[in-house]
Amino acid sequence: MSALVKARPEPGLWRETVPVPEIGPDDVLIRVNKTGICGTDVHIWNWDEWAQHTVPVPLVTGHEFAGEIVELGRNVTDLEIGQRCSGEGHLIGKHSRQSRSGKFHLDPETRGIGVNEQGAFAEYLRLPAFNVVPLPDAIDDEIGAILDPLGNAVHTALSFDLVGEDVLVTGAGPIGIMAAAVARHVGARHVVITDINPDRLALAARVADVVPVNVAEEDLASVVPRLGMKQGFDIGLEMSGNQRALDQMVERLVMGGRIAMLGIPPGRSPVDWSRIVFKAITIKGVYGREIFETWYKMIAMLENGLDIRGVITHRMKVDDYVAGFDAMRSGASGKVVLDWR
Ligand code: NAD
Ligand code: ZN
Repeated sequence: MSALVKARPEPGLWRETVPVPEIGPDDVLIRVNKTGICGTDVHIWNWDEWAQHTVPVPLVTGHEFAGEIVELGRNVTDLEIGQRCSGEGHLIGKHSRQSRSGKFHLDPETRGIGVNEQGAFAEYLRLPAFNVVPLPDAIDDEIGAILDPLGNAVHTALSFDLVGEDVLVTGAGPIGIMAAAVARHVGARHVVITDINPDRLALAARVADVVPVNVAEEDLASVVPRLGMKQGFDIGLEMSGNQRALDQMVERLVMGGRIAMLGIPPGRSPVDWSRIVFKAITIKGVYGREIFETWYKMIAMLENGLDIRGVITHRMKVDDYVAGFDAMRSGASGKVVLDWR
């Protein structure tokens, strides 16, 4: 089969022919229809320090996918051949205290497809049946292919009750934009999204009913009275991984404000802890998706009017994957979806 492989320990991904994976008794084989390119895949392409320490070579990359089941392991009785699906790309163990108490997303032995294990940028993917998420007809393959990052957005956004709250999203990357759309969908009052990239802010305003603020040009402090807020934002969703964005968020939150933090700051970043203490701010780190509560909720929201399709800015055949990665690196794109059929 054809796959996008990290074939050598150097920048790049290579389209190669590799064997179709063999499935075990508890696995399924999925024919991949569409895949999304993630920032993680760009790190793997670039072969940065994180990738060098994390990714074994050779490896089939990719973890955002939709497809259909073409083979069932002998123990798999609750799925059918032909079932359209996406799936959780975090493969969990069953031994940790967290897993055994049902907090699967907190399992410390988690391994990621396309990062630690063979991935989804391929014609076929092996996945434990446990990880399969069937897709209803209302969710087509291109949306199915971006449920993994939408799940990050949903997990973060639903960390706190947003009904009637004023929400600040820092970082209008694909995940920040989707989180803003989710905040709006579940009934936040004002949703403000910041970035320093005007293309990203324009995309955010097209996809969701949000107030975009370019913090390279406009002072966020002036937005608070303009929107009729008295003190500041109730909830912050940090989606940039940028230190200045986090500082700004802490500054603009109300006393007792809450932050859900998905963005990954590079290295060890300084934090003004006394400010956080005196403002009595709660910070929650968010990793991945809740397995499978996030999947349940996001599919329900998509079936009930949550519309994030506009975040997909590029659709291309897998033959053009180099152009897809170029679009991701340009900083002007939203999600890039590759077609494998
Ligand atoms: P992205 O890089 O596409 O978007 C980040 C955005 O932040 C960019 O548009 C950038 O211009 C903007 N930004 C930079 N400086 C800023 C500032 N000072 N203020 C406001 N915005 C600023 O990333 P993404 O794919 O949308 O992912 C969002 C973040 O979540 C990334 O940090 C990513 O690494 C992280 N992530 C975490 C998990 C997890 O499980 N915790 C999973 C997926 C992604
Ligand atoms: Zn991803």
